This record gives sequence, C-alpha cells and structure tokens, in this order.
Amino acid sequence: MVGAVEFRNVTKSYGTFAAVVDVSFTIEAGSLVTLLGPSGCGKTTTLRLIAGLEMASGGAILIDGADVTQLPVTRRDIAMVFQSYALFPHLNVGDNVAFGLRNIGRSRSEAAAAASEALDVVGLAGFERRMTGQLSGGQQQRVAVARAIVLRPKVLLLDEPLSNLDAKLRRQVRDDIRALQQRLGLTVVYVTHDQQEALAVSDQVVVMSAGHIAQIGTPEALYDAPATRFVADFIGDANIFSATIESISGTGAQVRIGRAVLELPRRGRQTGQVEVALRPASIAIEAPGHEAGFAEGQVVSSAYLGESREYVVATELGQVFVIDHHSRAAWAAGSAVALRIVGAGVTVLER
Ligand code: ADP
Ligand code: MG
Repeated sequence: MVGAVEFRNVTKSYGTFAAVVDVSFTIEAGSLVTLLGPSGCGKTTTLRLIAGLEMASGGAILIDGADVTQLPVTRRDIAMVFQSYALFPHLNVGDNVAFGLRNIGRSRSEAAAAASEALDVVGLAGFERRMTGQLSGGQQQRVAVARAIVLRPKVLLLDEPLSNLDAKLRRQVRDDIRALQQRLGLTVVYVTHDQQEALAVSDQVVVMSAGHIAQIGTPEALYDAPATRFVADFIGDANIFSATIESISGTGAQVRIGRAVLELPRRGRQTGQVEVALRPASIAIEAPGHEAGFAEGQVVSSAYLGESREYVVATELGQVFVIDHHSRAAWAAGSAVALRIVGAGVTVLER
C-alpha cells in the first residue's frame, strides 16, 4: 500500500501568527487518520500542508519516505475533497469526475471510462449525464469523492466531508467513506470537529488544540486514557477531579480519589496532587454507606433517556455527572446516594 505521510516538526505561520506549531505525526499507508479539534485549531491548514496548497514555514513533510516539503501541489500525488465540494456547475457528473484526468492529458474516452468506474465505486453508476444541480447533497458529496479517487492518489484528503449533509445522512455517508477506504486500501486523512464521527471512522485520531497536537491514538486509547483535561473533555464526557498519588511502584500508583484509593497506571506522575478523569458511565450510584464508595451526596437532577438514566450528584468533590446504562434503580432528585467507581473509565491525567 502507498501513501504513508510523515510530519517532522512542521510549523506554519501567517505573519506572526502560528496556525500549526511543531507538529509531528506518522500516518501509515492504507489507514484512515482523523485530524480532530475545535474550529480554528489548525486542521484545514494541516491538510493543506499535506496537499502542498500551503508551504511549511519550518520542518519536513514526507510522503512514502520522500521529502515533498518543497514540492508544489501538482507533484505530490494527492487529491483533496473540499468542504464545499467545489463541483463545476456547468459540467455534468461524468465530466466533473473526468476533469482531472483530462487536465493531465488523458484522452476523452479513457477519462470517461475511468470516470464511470469511479462513479460505480461510489454507488453512482449511470449518473454521468446528470448535472450536479440535480443531485442531492449526499450524491454531490459522492461525486466529489469520485472526482478525487479517479486520480488514484497516494493520499486522499477529506476536509469536513459531512458538514453539508443533514443529520440523517451523516451516519450513512460516514460509513460509506470508511467502507470505501477499507475496500480500496486508501490512505485517507480526514478532518472533522465532531468527536463521534472521528471515533467511528478512524484507525488513529490526531487531536489538535490551538495549532498543537494534544494527543494521538486509536479511538479506544483516546477514550480510555486521555492524556489531558482537554482531550478528556473533547472526546466524550468526563468528570475531572483533583486526586492524590499516595505512593508509586513501577508504573502503578495508589491514587486517592475522595474516600477511595485505587491502583491505577501513574502515567509518569509522581506522588502528590494530580487530576483524574472519570467517565460518567464508570460510576455506579447506590445507597449511602457503601464501603467502596469514593463520594457521597445528594441527587440534584435525574433524567430518564430510555437506554440510560443520567444524574447530577452534588458531593464533597463537587458536582458529579453519572450515566447509568443498566438502570439498576431510579434515584429521584433529593435522594442521598453513594458513588462508586466501576469499570476502567478512570485515568490519571499526564499534565
Ligand atoms: P480549522 O480547520 O481547524 O478550523 P484552520 O486550519 O482553517 O482551522 O485555521 C487555523 C488558524 O489559522 C485560524 O486561526 C485561522 O484564522 C488561521 N488561518 C488560516 N488560514 C489563514 C491565512 N491564509 N492567513 C491568516 N490566518 C490564517
Ligand atoms: Mg477547517
């Protein structure tokens, strides 16, 4: 497979403003990697740096081991699907998809045949003669993907590919993109600000914050072991508590969280005060007096959501958000309760 991408200490500045700061990562060929982060954190800039639509101010960019840092967009063998799709309204679907191949000198018949094949791949066989204005949003999106993959790029870049679709279509198109990527063994760099979307499609997620990388990992690793408060909050819900490492041994630590002491990976931290992130679904809510509880308090609010119940509990550690997927029992607002940590959703933050 082709399309490995490597960033080595890449920086991109606009005047005195640094949009991307000292970013390093490796994308394996044939994988789908998401750049995830809030608006303005540098995702599109990073994508455009891979494409050669922006030139790095510092550092090196490699594709399949070759240094492309100084190469223009036309010599990088990538294709990009823009957030707006940027389809040509005066061309029909077939000509839109064939455009890139005509541009590099392929014959009309050869380009048309390749375009039909690409349309078939994205599930739009027979749409060649339609005008793009006659397509739904989801179909336009697929034309944009066909127009990119027809070039057989080493790397396919997708910038917020679902942002123009209504909520109902998003899941389906998201799953279609992932299935296509896996079927064709494509290397895809996928930009989104939606954490659920990122978790659903990615082999690896690069979480970005203010031009920096906050953490890189598989969806499971980011959810189960967020490194920072930012990542813990951005990916899923998290309760952040102040805690104390009472002792350490090897890579483990005895961590006091409220009334409980847990054995957890210490993640490079020493004895003393740290922060821990606790997933709301890793908290059991039960009658007070439970020995293993880490906090006690009073239910402030209680909501029934069909598949789960959600609680906010006022405790000596502050307000705690709890999700009970098992609906063990219903606790009304005002109930006195104890909270106990269950499962693996608790982690010491690295910094
Ligand atoms: P994202 O895609 O994560 O929303 P961008 O990569 O588009 O963010 O932008 C990152 C930051 O760089 C933003 O603060 C944005 O305003 C700034 N920026 C992007 N392009 C330019 C440019 N051409 N000139 C100046 N600032 C820019
Ligand atoms: Mg963007």
